[in-house]
Amino acid sequence: MKVHEYQAKELLKSAGVAVPAGVVVTRPEEAADAYDALGGGLIVVKAQVHAGGRGKGVAVGPEVDRELALDIASGRKPRPDGMAKGVQLVRSREDAAKAAAGLLGKTLVTYQTGAAGQAITKVLVTVGHDIVKELYLGLAVDRAVGCPVLMATTEGGVEIETVAHESPEKIHREPIDVGLGLLGFQARKICKALGLAGETAKKGEKFLQGFVRLFLDTDASLAEINPLIVTEKGDVLALDCKLNFDDNALFRHPAVAAMLDVAEEDPSELRASKSGLSYVSLDGNIACLVNGAGLAMSTMDLIKLHGGEPANFLDIGGGANKEQVIEAFRILLASPNVKAVLINIFGGIQRCDNVAQALLDAYDELDFRIPVVVRLEGTNVEAGRKLLKESGRKIITAEGLTDAAEKVVAAAKGAA
Ligand code: ADP
Ligand code: MG
Repeated sequence: MKVHEYQAKELLKSAGVAVPAGVVVTRPEEAADAYDALGGGLIVVKAQVHAGGRGKGVAVGPEVDRELALDIASGRKPRPDGMAKGVQLVRSREDAAKAAAGLLGKTLVTYQTGAAGQAITKVLVTVGHDIVKELYLGLAVDRAVGCPVLMATTEGGVEIETVAHESPEKIHREPIDVGLGLLGFQARKICKALGLAGETAKKGEKFLQGFVRLFLDTDASLAEINPLIVTEKGDVLALDCKLNFDDNALFRHPAVAAMLDVAEEDPSELRASKSGLSYVSLDGNIACLVNGAGLAMSTMDLIKLHGGEPANFLDIGGGANKEQVIEAFRILLASPNVKAVLINIFGGIQRCDNVAQALLDAYDELDFRIPVVVRLEGTNVEAGRKLLKESGRKIITAEGLTDAAEKVVAAAKGAA
């Protein structure tokens, strides 16, 4: 699960990590009041969406071509005058309101959102700081090392992917013992690598300890502070923060779980998770209903191998009941891009005849305007195949994976 910058900063603050003061608003008038409440001067108005690259991003209305917006946000085309960025510096309450009005209700396109962009429903109004140094901090679970690894570099403010690619030696790494947290000597080492000295280094150490503690205590899976800045006064502050959490541990952190912003989530994915199903939305036109994530991956590989593109995949898992399977079909068919469905079930715990019966029930209940290809294998497969065969419904059965992939790709092309 992802949270917004303003929520990540609330969590950082509660962990004793220094962040600029800020107020999140949903209307331009509130941004003007927030400007005054924060003491005026240099204030920054920031679009809140679950994506990075907002500073270079563009906020656009429906009239702007999104591919063009993506080219501008990615630096491939020049930015025309008056095209609002996702992060704006202002120096008056009127400008704060104007900046917020130019963001709220618009779509932010950044190099990370793709051309579709993300709707802006909230903006963060926050104190602007003079930046003496722009640094970078990241924390991610490194599977190769088997623990979280703290990454730090003096190359802040720019895309970390570029640094990792072009000058990986500039990224300092410290493995974190999940029981002990960041040890004193590690914090000092990182501060030294970041060029922090004296009082600033002390502040930096406290910052790092709090950051790592928060990551461990909330079961975060990824955290990034870019930029981490040093101010003229020698303070160390997080100007931006991204936090992702392990969904499987959210039950332990109700305060974090409550931060879910449904506006940022794919509606079909939300609907599926409510029914205990895993759904992932993709760009193609073939819907995939499978049981098991591994089978989902190989099903999609096969579709691609045979020249098709998956529109989504829905994993009904091992123990889905009839109601869940019908709901799964409803979700798959709700996507307007879908031109054919491939049902690929290996019945281990799940029984093939149950899936076949649920498919027939769904077929009668829902409007199947598109071809359905079914490949069943495993427990009770004969009974399942018989049910489908004798049903009289227009269901294409397949023998084996390759046959299934070929049939569904052909069906999607025919229906397209
Ligand atoms: P993103 O990573 O999505 O582009 P950031 O929050 O990192 O968004 O903002 C982009 C840039 O805007 C930062 O690198 C920084 O230079 C500037 N910026 C952001 N917040 C502030 C702030 N509070 N004070 C001064 N500059 C800021
Ligand atoms: Mg940033």
